Amino acid sequence: MQTKIVQPTKEGIQQAAQLLKQGELVGMPTETVYGLAASAYDPAAIKKIFQAKGRPQDNPLIVHISNLEMLQPLVTAVPEPAKKLAEQFWPGPLTMIFPKSEKVPMEVTAGMETVAIRFPSHPVAQAIIRESSLPLAAPSANLSGKPSPTTAQHVWEDMDGKIPLIVDGGECQVGVESTVVLVKEDCLHLLRPGAVTPEMLKTCCDQVEIDPAVLHQLKEGAQAASPGMKYKHYSPKADVTILSGNLAQFKEYVNSHWDSATYALVFDGEQQGIACPCLTYGADAAEQAKELFAVLRRLDGLGAKKVYARCPEKQGMGLAVYNRLIRAAGFQVIPLEDARM
Ligand code: AMP
Ligand code: MG
Repeated sequence: MQTKIVQPTKEGIQQAAQLLKQGELVGMPTETVYGLAASAYDPAAIKKIFQAKGRPQDNPLIVHISNLEMLQPLVTAVPEPAKKLAEQFWPGPLTMIFPKSEKVPMEVTAGMETVAIRFPSHPVAQAIIRESSLPLAAPSANLSGKPSPTTAQHVWEDMDGKIPLIVDGGECQVGVESTVVLVKEDCLHLLRPGAVTPEMLKTCCDQVEIDPAVLHQLKEGAQAASPGMKYKHYSPKADVTILSGNLAQFKEYVNSHWDSATYALVFDGEQQGIACPCLTYGADAAEQAKELFAVLRRLDGLGAKKVYARCPEKQGMGLAVYNRLIRAAGFQVIPLEDARM
């Protein structure tokens, strides 16, 4: 199969919608990362998503809608806090989990009785959903385990020959996947951090619990509230280690441990005085989120074998960056604050 990249013109959108109605897959831009979309009502098309990505069968998909009326047929209840969250943060980078209706095939939810729903703000995603008149199941459009794609070119690198079409909407503005929240009547359970931060969630509900899997590796055999959280993820081929501590401690450690094919992954403006080659990923947390996945892909292109990364802040948007980076690092963190060097 030849994979075409088209611009989001009227014809491009129509072509995408036509393919989706025929049960095909389309690479689609959203404000978070690129999605690999299929009709949420078509179990055969959903199976193609799992195949194309090499995605574990037990990892459910997010269903994307383009207006609030599309929510009702997909779910059996909308808890009170969800109404507030929808008002505040939809359209946008927030996914909410609801009890699923019978209309949602088990293939989408990987057998779960709940379904994850998002109303993205990206105009091209909205146009594709509208034109197809379908809710679209769409995980990130990368091969499973690889960094998520934030440009059409990234999607092409992973999906060339596997899908008929990618719609090019330029670079994704957020750069990390949506915030995922399980909504209960009196409490929000944060399963995956994103651009809608815990602080922002608290404006809609007093009780916000952060799932332990957001910051820590799940113990062997432990059940994941969000199946996606248990996999090694977002990984470049290189062995990544996060060094927590200040910049001086980082430099001292790297300069005495680097070898050939070692790279330092630092924040903008921090390269000076580091002995090995450096790549940077943003100054503040929003920039770090936007640039993280692209820089992880670049490390692969450069043939990096060992990467030492600066540790993002664990607050606000930084929590999302840290959550992705510890997975890319296979949870290897060296705390330099405590080390006697
Ligand atoms: P992706 O589509 O690659 O952004 O991944 C979707 C994320 O949402 C994964 O981490 C899934 O495990 C999670 N997810 C989707 N549906 C559910 C659900 N019903 N319950 C819990 N987590 C879910
Ligand atoms: Mg993904």
